[in-house]
Amino acid sequence: MHRERTRRIRIGDERTGIVEVGGGAPVALQTMTTSFTHDVEASVAEINRLHAAGADIVRVAVPEKKDTEALPEILRRTSVPIVADVHFHFKRALEAVEAGVHKIRLNPGNISDRVQVEAVIDACKDRGIPIRIGVNEGSIIERRDKQVRAQELGRFFSEHRHGQMLALMIAKLEEYLDIFHAKDFHDLAISAKSMDTMLTVDAYTEIAKRFDYPLHLGVTHAGPKETGCIRSVVALGSLLQQGIGDTIRISYASDPVHEVEDGAEMLCCLGLRERKGAELIACPTCGRLQVDLFELVQQVKRTLDQDVELPMKVAVMGCVVNGPGEAEGADVAVFAGDRRGIIYVQGEKVANVPEEEILDRLRAECLDFQEKVRRGEAKLGEKKVDIVPPDPIGDLGSGIEKIRAGLVEKPTIGRT
Ligand code: SF4
Repeated sequence: MHRERTRRIRIGDERTGIVEVGGGAPVALQTMTTSFTHDVEASVAEINRLHAAGADIVRVAVPEKKDTEALPEILRRTSVPIVADVHFHFKRALEAVEAGVHKIRLNPGNISDRVQVEAVIDACKDRGIPIRIGVNEGSIIERRDKQVRAQELGRFFSEHRHGQMLALMIAKLEEYLDIFHAKDFHDLAISAKSMDTMLTVDAYTEIAKRFDYPLHLGVTHAGPKETGCIRSVVALGSLLQQGIGDTIRISYASDPVHEVEDGAEMLCCLGLRERKGAELIACPTCGRLQVDLFELVQQVKRTLDQDVELPMKVAVMGCVVNGPGEAEGADVAVFAGDRRGIIYVQGEKVANVPEEEILDRLRAECLDFQEKVRRGEAKLGEKKVDIVPPDPIGDLGSGIEKIRAGLVEKPTIGRT
C-alpha cells in the first residue's frame, strides 16, 4: 500500500519509549481514558489496561486544575506516551506541559485566542512536545455571526456535497495553522473529525492534499460499539487504504479496550500492523451445521485470547463441505459435524472427538503447537490444511480452461 509521505513527529520519552508518527512510521493506535484524570488510581489502572491491550498512545482529558495536578503521579506509574486533551482553558495545556506530558491536543473550536495559543506553542517548543490540532465537527460551529460565516464559506465549497461543514473545517484549520507557522512551529499532527463517515473521508482527503503534517484519523461521536465500530472502520479503513493517516483512534460509547482491540484488528486486516496472538477464522454457519458453533467459537476465542501468544491461525468450521477451502492456511483447524469434531494441525489429522470434548482438545493442540514453534520444531503457516472435500457435481472446472485459452484478463491491481 502506498502511504502518503508526511513529516514525522516523536511522542514519548526515555522511560516510555518513543512512538514515531508520520513519515512512513507504522500507524500508531490511540485511545482515550474514560475515568476522571484526577482519580489517579482509576486513571493509572485504565491507562495500563489500555496499553496492555495494544494502545501505543493514550489520551486523557484535563478539564480542571486538579486533573493536571494528577498528571505527574500518573506519568510516574504508566509507561505509554500520554497526550493531554485540552478544552477551553489554555492554562491546562501549560500545566500539562509542565507536568511532563508527551503531547498536547488543542481544539480550535474551543481555544481561539491567539495570545493563548502562542503561549501554548512557546511552552511546547521549549520542551520539544508536539501538538495535535484537532478540528472537530461538534465544536466547530461559529458562535458569532455563524450563519453569515457559514454561508460565505459554503459558497467557497458550494460544489461539494458536504458544502458548509467541510468549508468550516478546512477554513478553521488553515486559520489556526497560520498561528503555528508564524511561530515557525511544525511539530504538529492534525485531525478533522466528523460524525458523518463520508464527510470524515472527504475532510481528511482534502487535508492530505494541502498539508504534510501527520494525520490523526477518527470519526467523532460514532455511537455505540455495534454501529460506531462500523462507521469508524469504514472511514478509517478507506483512508488508510488510500495511504492517508498516520495514527488512528476508533471511538465509540463503550469500554475503550474494545476501541483498541478493534483498531488493532483493522490495522492487521490492512496489513499495517503485525498480529499479536491467534487469528481466529470461523464459518458463519448454515443449514449443514450439526454442532453449537456460535458458542464453540466464543469459547475458542476466549481460550485463544488467554493462552495463545503467537500469531497462529486457528479455524473453527461447521462442516467439511466448504470448510477446508476456507480454512486453508490455518495452523490448527477443527471441522465439526455429526456432533463430533475432527481436528487438524498443519494439515495432519490429530483427533476425532465428541462435541463436548472439542474445546479442550483444540486448546491442548494449540498450546502443543505453540510450544513446538517456540522450540523451533514447527513454523507458523508452514503447512496447509489439506482435506479433499466431496467431488463437485457436473463438468464445470476451476476456470483454468478459460485462462489457458487467454479469455481471462490478467488482474492489474495489487502491483506496486
Ligand atoms: S463451513 Fe459448512 S456449516 Fe459452515 S457455513 Fe460453510 S457449509 Fe455451512
